[in-house]
Formats: sequence, C-alpha cells, structure tokens
Amino acid sequence: MTNPLFDRLFAAHADSAAPFLLRPDGTPIAYRDFLVRAARLAHALSGLGLEPGDRVAVQIDKHPDTLALYAACVQAGLVYLPLNTAYTPQELDYFVGNSGAALLVTTEASAPALVEIAARHGAQAQTLEDGTGTLSDLAEGQPDSFRTVSRAEDDLAAILYTSGTTGRSKGAMLTQANLLSNALTLAEAWRFTAEDVLLHALPVYHTHGLFVATNTILATGGAMILLPKFDADEMIRLMPRATTMMGVPTFYTRLLGREDFTRELAEGIRLFVSGSAPLLAETHRDFEARTGHRILERYGMTETNMSCSNPYEGERRPGTVGPPLPGVEARVRGEDGAVLPDGEIGVLEVRGPNVFRGYWRMPEKTAEEMREDGFFITGDLAQISEDGYVTIVGRAKDLVISGGLNVYPKEVEEALDALPGVVESAVIGVPHPDLGEAVVAVVVAGPAEPPSPEALASGLSGLARFKQPRHYALVEELPRNTMGKVQKAQLRETFAGLFN
Ligand code: ATP
Ligand code: MG
Repeated sequence: MTNPLFDRLFAAHADSAAPFLLRPDGTPIAYRDFLVRAARLAHALSGLGLEPGDRVAVQIDKHPDTLALYAACVQAGLVYLPLNTAYTPQELDYFVGNSGAALLVTTEASAPALVEIAARHGAQAQTLEDGTGTLSDLAEGQPDSFRTVSRAEDDLAAILYTSGTTGRSKGAMLTQANLLSNALTLAEAWRFTAEDVLLHALPVYHTHGLFVATNTILATGGAMILLPKFDADEMIRLMPRATTMMGVPTFYTRLLGREDFTRELAEGIRLFVSGSAPLLAETHRDFEARTGHRILERYGMTETNMSCSNPYEGERRPGTVGPPLPGVEARVRGEDGAVLPDGEIGVLEVRGPNVFRGYWRMPEKTAEEMREDGFFITGDLAQISEDGYVTIVGRAKDLVISGGLNVYPKEVEEALDALPGVVESAVIGVPHPDLGEAVVAVVVAGPAEPPSPEALASGLSGLARFKQPRHYALVEELPRNTMGKVQKAQLRETFAGLFN
C-alpha cells in the first residue's frame, strides 16, 4: 500500500511535534496535529461517499484547514481541485461542470449562491472555514488516523486550472509524480531544510503558493508563516521570524515602496524567490541595493510546475530565469519547427518528470501542445544563452507582427522602462489598417511630471522604426491579476479601436 505523494510529503512527519504552520499571531500548528486534522477530514470526505479519483473542487479562503483539506484529498486518493477565490458564481459554474467534481467546498458566505450550481452538476456541497463549517462538523469526532488510499505515480493528485491570462482556463492534470518530483527538486535546488521558516503570503489555489511553496516546505519538514494574503505591514512585522520568502514580482515592488523595509529587516532571510510573472531587472537591482539580497527568479507554469531556476550558488542573472532545473530539458523552436541554436528567439518547449499528463477533458488541446517526443509547448517565447540560461521574452500570443515583422514586446518595454519618468510599461499589438498590427505602448509614469509622447518617442529612437510604438498611452497602473500578471488581453481590448 503506497501513496508516494502522501507518504513522502505528509506521512513522513506524522510523529513530528515541530511546527508546520504558524498563524500570524505566532500560534504554531505541529505537523502531527495538522495530520490528525487531515485524517479527520479524510474520514469526512469518504463518509460523503467520495471514491478515489473523484474531484473535490475547493473555493475557500486561505487558512490552515485549506491545506488540511489538500492533505486529506491526497490521503484519500481524491483529486484536489482548488479554485481562485475571485471567481464569480457564473465562472464557478464552468469549473464545476468542466471538472465533473463530486464535491464543491465553499465558504459559508458563498454557499447560498453555489449550492444550486453544485446541484445542477450533480456535485455535493459543503462549507469549510478556519475550523468551522459543515465539512468541519463532519470531521468532528472522527478517528485521528485514516488508512491512506493507495495511488500509483501517474495517478492524478490534482487538477489545477491555468490563470486564464491568454484565454479560458484549462484544467491541468497533475500526477503524484509530477508534484513529488518537483517538490524534491526544488527543496534540493534551493537548499531547504527543516530549519526553514517560509513567509507565505501567496494564494494557495495557484501552483506558486500551493505546490512551489507548500510542497517544498513539506518535503523538508520546515515551517510556514501562513498569511491570509499579502499585506505589506504584516510582511514587515513578520519578516524577522522567517528565513525565506517566495513572492510574485509585485510583492517585491510593494516592499521596496516602503521606507521601513530595510536591510536589517531582511537580515535573517537566506533566500528570496520570485516567479509567476517577469521580475524587472531594475527591481532585482533595487532590491539588492536595499537589502544586499539577490532575488532568485524561477520560471514555471501550471502545466509544468517549475522548469527553470536561477542557481542558489552561482550567478543569479537579472532578467533571466536561469537554466532548466535538474531532470528538466528545455529547447527553443522556430516558426518552421526547427530547433534553434543558442541565442535565437523561439517558442520554449520543456520535458521532464514535472510535465503534466494533459488537459482535463481536452484531448485535442493536449495533443496540440504536446510533441511526440514528450516535449510540452509552453507558449512562451524564450532564448537560451550559450551557458544555458533561459530568458523569457514574452508569450507567443503577445508577439506583435507589425508590417510583417516580429516585434518582441519585452525588448520595447525594457527600452521604455529605462527612460526617465517611466515606472513600467506594457507593449501590445493593436489592429491597424496598413500594418496589420501597430505597436502601442501603455506607460505608467512616476510621481514627477509625466514624460510627453514626444520625449518617449525620442527616447526610443535607437530602436528599429518598425519596433517603435505608434501610440503612447499614459495610465495610472497596468491591469494585473492576483498573481501580478499583466492582463494584456484586457489592454488589447481597451485600445482595439485606436486606428480604426
Ligand atoms: P493561461 O495559460 O490560462 O493563459 P497563465 O499562463 O497565466 O494562464 P499560469 O500557469 O499561472 O497561467 O502562468 C504560467 C505563465 O506565467 C508562464 O507561461 C509564463 O508566461 C508566466 N511566468 C511564470 N514565471 C515567469 C517568470 N519568472 N518570468 C516570466 N514569465 C513567467
Ligand atoms: Mg499558460
């Protein structure tokens, strides 16, 4: 009887009195107590008649029980299916229907709107809050151990929906081996030990907070300070108690925006990790100047877990995501399908034990994105340096083709960001009668006098004419989702009529 993921990440700590979770007020939750809670929840789930392989859709807040429910699903052989807390009932309707979930777990506040949706799709509904809710009631008084359900390495452990940045979210089928191999790889690559305390402010419905952060800590027996969400005051208050932090780039820019975020405050941290969206090279440099720490940037996606990482020891190169992780291979292909030599830009493909089994109930989509030799087509444009460092240049879908020529938004964005008065920028392609697409720059200016379009244009005169924006729009801020991803589809919509 084995369940590789549960055995290695959870059961290994069953007797441990060491803290797994620390509440913001400092209250610890020991590994063994956490696992008792998970066992009771597993009894509650199986008491509802759920069978191994059934999907458990979960849209609840972030607290210790959210992770206990994840553990319970793994132990009971159920497929954990976390959903973004920002999704509306209408969106939930799609996810519950598409996933064929047997159970939907919601908050008490959203239950009235969601119970009916669950019922329509033949799913049961329960609620779970921090220690309360109907599922918690069912767990009450249950035995403190649960017989772990056997699973094979390629059985599904989770279905995680992609962020929906480029279109409708797709359910990525993640196996036991996908998750376990990546957790072990990251723990080793980033030198995690049982002594680590991770400051955790990421959402736990996304691969970053759930698998990268939580599974890596579980792999080593360390602890996490679990914040319900990012709050700069709380981060600053709690940072001295942590040894590591993982964040999206906006966490870092927001911390840098605070004068009380100082070198002394970050003294006890041995590692800052960034991912989920590009970290500006400038943020990397500002962070080092402020704290002395070089942020370690890594790259991954829902479908592949983590694929590339800057090294723990060795050069952390700003603007790059580092070489492929051990066991992962990466290559770049051109439009004609040929594998490109070092330094050329093409679509990044990755292969390894981290790569998912396919999109849930979308066999055609899976076939489109998966090469016969096992490489997965990421949809990101990248170049690989001679010494193996990968630079993400943007998404293939964001490539602008203006007058038949390829314009890589990142190149233009970097040139813009370097100009005086520019905080950040997003470059998009907008329909244009002559050019097909015209380059448009959406610019966030600093607090001083905003730069004029003429000043911006002359600042970019070093770029080839076809790469130069035809229009500059100044905005207060770029539209971003909770993972700090710039919503370029939204910008394209906003500016769609510019040249018509
Ligand atoms: P969808 O696939 O539904 O359009 P999404 O791709 O945003 O949404 P995720 O799986 O959450 O969903 O995000 C993965 C993507 O995030 C990658 O394909 C890449 O574009 C981006 N990404 C992740 N890490 C980095 C990084 N360090 N630098 C640049 N981009 C990154
Ligand atoms: Mg994607």
